[in-house]
Amino acid sequence: MIPSIHALRLSVFTLGLFILAGIVPAPQALADTPVADAHSAKEETKNIKKHRLSKLKEKITTDEETLKQNCRYESDISLAAPMKEVALTFDDGPEPEQTEYILALLRKYQIPATFFMIGEKVQAHPDLVRLVQESEYAVIGNHSWSHPNFHDISIKEQASEIEKGNAATAALNTHQLFRYPYGNSTCDANQLLTSMKQKIVGWHVDSCDWAFDHKGSVDLKEAVSCGVTPQNRNDYKEHVISSVQAHHGGIVLMHEIHPNTLRQLEEIIIRLQADGYRFKSVTDPDFEKYLR
Ligand SMILES: [Zn+2]
Repeated sequence: MIPSIHALRLSVFTLGLFILAGIVPAPQALADTPVADAHSAKEETKNIKKHRLSKLKEKITTDEETLKQNCRYESDISLAAPMKEVALTFDDGPEPEQTEYILALLRKYQIPATFFMIGEKVQAHPDLVRLVQESEYAVIGNHSWSHPNFHDISIKEQASEIEKGNAATAALNTHQLFRYPYGNSTCDANQLLTSMKQKIVGWHVDSCDWAFDHKGSVDLKEAVSCGVTPQNRNDYKEHVISSVQAHHGGIVLMHEIHPNTLRQLEEIIIRLQADGYRFKSVTDPDFEKYLR
């Protein structure tokens, strides 16, 4: 049985009532770990915007050869996507309710997807992790231990983030997949990952779900940075569908924690299927050449 968005809203509303009534402790009270707060959609959106700005600045002020030498920003895949094939990826989970909702949709439409999980959250939500692990449609990858920007931390810290993230997902990450937080690659981490036989997964299409606000609109600055066309500035769903169509498929980056993705995911799947797109896992042989 698929929880509809309406049912999801209703359960959030009911939970709110219970919190007000003091039956269920408020989320802050539940979280003696700061994990939920540290990776909340709002907090994470702020981080993405910040790191995105430094990326733009660096790209403008540094020549392409230097960026290449420093292994910068390799997560944007420039190789053409496999024709009309899409691999959905969901980062920054697991996330209560949202993970279950995505899994239910994958089951309903019988399509695979990859979940790049944050080690800290894996540790905090073993029940959710088990659900993902049990799903025949889900593949799990490492998205670091605590989701730092690898450009801002030492080599030692980068290694520790990868290793701790790996330890947390050891039994789950059977395909040895890694995705950089914010897509921010470094040569040192690349080297370590290669020596560990980990495959680095980037994306063809950044859904920019974080850039759309709670009303479903994106401001002009973010629209430019995300390549959202003027007619799609109030329409996340059309932005994702037209971006996939412009690439003729490919690996799509989404986040479990962003409400826009949750609200529009089913319609995106339906529309792309109707347009002849087939959904595959990033571990499918057709996607092998995009993993590094
Ligand atoms: Zn992330």
